[in-house]
Amino acid sequence: MTHLPFQDWLFEDTLDVIQADALHSHLETCVECRSLEGAFQQVEHSLRSTSQVAPAAGFTLRWQEKLEVERGRLHKHQIRLAFAFGLGGALILLGSLAILFWPLLDSLDALLWAVVYQLYLAFTVVHQVGGILAALARALAPALPLLFWVLILGLLTQASVLWVVSYRYITNPRRIEI
Ligand SMILES: [Zn+2]
Repeated sequence: MTHLPFQDWLFEDTLDVIQADALHSHLETCVECRSLEGAFQQVEHSLRSTSQVAPAAGFTLRWQEKLEVERGRLHKHQIRLAFAFGLGGALILLGSLAILFWPLLDSLDALLWAVVYQLYLAFTVVHQVGGILAALARALAPALPLLFWVLILGLLTQASVLWVVSYRYITNPRRIEI
């Protein structure tokens, strides 16, 4: 005996009159389909009669706390990831620079001599400029009154104070008021 389509119809809500009649007469003769229908009705009944279990007290609070912890963990993970990326990028950059400047590093002593020579040149230039300025001051000193030199000194002091104050203002972290 074939049980199709009756076994499918057992689980359907929208049967027409002819289908319902056919199912009904099949169920009267077929033990297997009848037992299937009985089991299905039992399952439906127990699903309807079981009361829903309420969550334990403070469930929402615990869930929110857990969510916060999870968010914090994710945030830390992102920071670690960003740090690792940054470090990796820096290492790659450093490696590329090393490869690019390898010939220079290879002749390191020549480079050092070049640097020393440049420093010597700079020192000489500064020394010469300083000598010229000193000679100029010596030549001008008798011609200009003492008052002029006092004024210059005052202006220089004010300028350096201004520079120190603005430097501190720029570099200090801004205070956040709560
Ligand atoms: Zn059957």
